[in-house]
Formats: sequence, structure tokens, C-alpha cells
Amino acid sequence: MAKLPIFDGHNDTLLHLHLHERGGGRSFFVEGDQGHIDLPRAKRGGFAGGFFAIFVPPVGMKRPMAAPRPGTRPDVPVLDGEYAKSFTQDVIARLRGIERDAAGEVQVVQTVSELDACLQAHVLAIVLHFEGAEAIHPGPEALEEFYDLGLRSLGLFWSRPNIYGDGVPFRFPSSPDIGDGLTDRGIALVRECNRLGILIDLAHINTRGFWDVAEHTNAPLAVTHGCAHRLSPSSRNLEDDQVDAIGDTNGLIGVNFHVGFLREDGEANPDTPIDAIVRHIDYFVDRIGIEHVALGSDFDGATMPSELGDVAGLPKLVDRLRAAGYDSEALELLAYRNWMRVLAETWR
Ligand code: ZN
Repeated sequence: MAKLPIFDGHNDTLLHLHLHERGGGRSFFVEGDQGHIDLPRAKRGGFAGGFFAIFVPPVGMKRPMAAPRPGTRPDVPVLDGEYAKSFTQDVIARLRGIERDAAGEVQVVQTVSELDACLQAHVLAIVLHFEGAEAIHPGPEALEEFYDLGLRSLGLFWSRPNIYGDGVPFRFPSSPDIGDGLTDRGIALVRECNRLGILIDLAHINTRGFWDVAEHTNAPLAVTHGCAHRLSPSSRNLEDDQVDAIGDTNGLIGVNFHVGFLREDGEANPDTPIDAIVRHIDYFVDRIGIEHVALGSDFDGATMPSELGDVAGLPKLVDRLRAAGYDSEALELLAYRNWMRVLAETWR
């Protein structure tokens, strides 16, 4: 049986490669044991592509950042806009270099028909995503420059404030209702995303910001990587009224595999079963329907269940889902069809 193609909501592979390759440590094309995604392992896992994030780390950070321990908050100062912009341009250049070197095996997709063609032809499809809008500098009018460079998905925040509003800090246990909503520029940025047809990612937004986006956007609400607050009360997880709003707008939640957001105790303990991912999927499916649930691994940016390991372990997750009662049609929805629907409704 052919492997189920998986189109995934989130990974931090570009940053991981960027920080490691500067030291000569890791290639996207060579199977390695560092990180979670490279092309050979992606092929083995049936990973057909996904949202590849550009995250701008604090100035001077040399290594990919591990998720902090529950109850702590990393030192995350507000980023300088110029720095964020030039760092982001450097990572886009690296991505385009990967696309070039891949000689047809990797494509940065900008339309749903390009994505569809990649899935058919087994070309790894990359949606360019920013995790935090710091590079959209000096204001929303700069978004179109990045649209022209291929940007099709924008997370307004990571866990720090920027000129558009406040990201939700890491806390456990905690409600995500920490900090203020969107600024006027934040609302203008939402409108600009709608105008250009860029997906707005609600991962790591706080409660007030979430409802501000819900009020002003005309697109389905989407979270590229998130889990259920009811099952794991992290400030970064989604409360039930947010989950319901996502379902009501025909939106989507990509379930995050980071063990600290899956577990009831919030511990970043890799000794966590794959079934913990299945529990969050089940929860969302029961609450808002299978059309509104997908995958959002957080590979290369988080601690995976050791049983899953890396991207090559995806077929194990598919097996568990099948064992939990998801038939072929349901698995296709979770694996890629739902993301394609939401992108088709959002991109123009
Ligand atoms: Zn994230």
C-alpha cells in the first residue's frame, strides 16, 4: 500500500538548518541523526510537505531553542524590526537555495494548484510561513514585499510582544488570557493578509488577540500547530470557545506533537506515547468535526515522543490513528485534504 501523503502545519527545519549549516553541521539532502526532517527521512515517512516556518531567534542565539520548562519563560526581548527583516531575508535565500539544489524534488508553492501538482508528482511542497510578524517592518505595508518573495502564511506572534500586539508567554498551568489584544497596526495587518490572500496563523496568540483577529478577518480561523487546553492546560493551548470558533468558520487546527503541550502535567518528557497525539486529535474531532483537524508536528522545533522519533516515524502515527478507528477517508482529511481546503478558501 502506498504511504499516506502527509502535509503538515508546522516545522522549524529552516531555522535548524540555518543555525547548524552556518557551522557546517547539517544538510537537508543527507540523511542525518540531527533534527527531525531531511529529504531522505521525509520520503521514508510519507511527508509530502507543509508549512516551513521562519522564526527569528533572539540576537546572538547560535543553537535552535529548546522549548522551556513548564512554568518558566525564556528571555525573549522585543526584536528589532530591521534585524528581523534581514535575518528573514537570509533564511528565504537559504530556502531558495535548497529549492534550486533539489533539482525538482522540492518546490516552494504559492497556489493550491501548485500544491496539488506537487502531491501528485511526489515533489516536497513547501509553504513559506513566518512564525511572528517582526519582519513585517516598519509596518503592514511591508507585507507585500514578502508576499512577492513567496510568503503565504503569517503567524502574527511568537511568545513575545511586537508592534502588532502580544504573543502568549509560556506558562503552565495557565489560561492564554495574558496581555493585550491587537494594536491598530495589528488590525491593519489582518486586513492586509486578507487583501493579499495570506493565511493568518493563530498559534501563540493570546486570548484577546485571538478574538480581535476573529472579529476582523474574512478567512477561516487557522492554527498551524496547537493542542487542547482541556487536556493540557498550557497557556499556548486552545480553550474550548476558541476551538468552537475555529470550527464555526470552517477553519482548522494542526495538532502539535510537542510533548509539553500534549501531556496533562506539561512536562517536556519524551517518554510520552504516540497515543497522546491521538487523544488531542480525538478531542478536536469529537468537538468540531474531522473536517477541522489536521497535523502540525513542530518537527525541528520541539520535543517529540521518542516512540515517534522524527519525520520517518509518521507511518506509526498513521497506524495508531487507523487502530483508533479512522478509516481511509478520515485519514486523508487529517493528512492533507483539510489543509488544502483551508488554503483554497484563504489564498487568492
Ligand atoms: Zn511554534
